[in-house]
Amino acid sequence: MTKKERIYYTKPSISELEVEYATDAARNGWGDRCYEYINRFEQLFKQHLNVEHAIATSSCTGAMHMGLSALGIGLGDEVILADTNWIATAAPITYLGAKPVFVDILPDSWCIDPIQAEAAITSKTKAIIATHLYGNLCDMDALLAIGQKYNIPIIEDAAEAIGSVYHGKRVGSIGRFGVFSFHGTKTLTTGEGGMFVTNDNQLYETVLTLSNHGRARNQTKQFYPDIIGFKYKMSNIQAAIGCAQMERIDDLISRKREILAYYRQQLAHLSFIQINPEPENTINGAWMPTVVFDASTGIIREKLQETFLAENIDARFFFYPLSGLSMFESKLSNHNAWDIPTRAINLPSYHDMNKNAIDKIVIVIFHAIGKKI
Ligand SMILES: *Cc1c(COP(=O)(O)O)cnc(C)c1O
Repeated sequence: MTKKERIYYTKPSISELEVEYATDAARNGWGDRCYEYINRFEQLFKQHLNVEHAIATSSCTGAMHMGLSALGIGLGDEVILADTNWIATAAPITYLGAKPVFVDILPDSWCIDPIQAEAAITSKTKAIIATHLYGNLCDMDALLAIGQKYNIPIIEDAAEAIGSVYHGKRVGSIGRFGVFSFHGTKTLTTGEGGMFVTNDNQLYETVLTLSNHGRARNQTKQFYPDIIGFKYKMSNIQAAIGCAQMERIDDLISRKREILAYYRQQLAHLSFIQINPEPENTINGAWMPTVVFDASTGIIREKLQETFLAENIDARFFFYPLSGLSMFESKLSNHNAWDIPTRAINLPSYHDMNKNAIDKIVIVIFHAIGKKI
């Protein structure tokens, strides 16, 4: 590798199998066979996650939109979620006329703080969304207990967390429903795509109807919608790529975990750096290795990114607090969500990266610190 060769922060792992299946879908997957790969992809996903139902979608955003809609969330309702989130988690709430209520994150997991979530509950609260940020685990026991106490569904945004396991259960399978993303940056990709999963039969039937332009599956009349639905379907060609990725899912996840473990090992003796945690009885799917520097280091993200870019390394910013965006009400009291991103950076972790690339990144981190301490 030459010194200035670009190190990308993510890119998909595409083998001959994906090419073979996509080609087959393009060549043969029409007419009677136009749902074959979609059905197979959903089947493989259900098995992997150990859930009853799965519906492939065109995006995670679409899966979330349909799930929230199926729960009956609408005008004037409130949905609680972490201030630290991708906009895709909050946007569907607004599509339904409901209001996202942003609460602070925990300083160690960077995921929603259950105490803050409980404190934000009002008579209008219709759901709490647990986003497993960067593959890190939300405190599901605490959140499920709150959900039970107030009779509010807990939803999992597992877009970043395929491969993450909480107390023996794969994330996405724990809450009322879960959603996944197969965007090109994610651990498993179909280019664009997503999945809705649930163990709730009734909810599944509702989302299935919604996903088919409101046509219930027992409706015998043709072109006869029963309700207004959505069109967030995945194509058979995308699902073909998804099937190949599912056959390789264990390898895709373990490679991500290897990369995170190597970063962790190389940075272990730096006490003023925090890297994605993996508490006891959990597995971190390691989608996005991220380092947070102690405030005492004086390190700021702009300077860090500059240092990385000088070495042609694609390091990304930690999510801005959504309450800091112009379309939402600012919520400065979410201290961690506002503070942590200012001294944090996402590190490259694509499957095919080699040890040399990681070593180079580690050196850049040392370099950044050396200048400061
Ligand atoms: C990627 C991502 C999404 C959105 O996924 P799309 O498939 O692009 O809609 C949602 N939530 C989180 C946390 C994400 O990282």
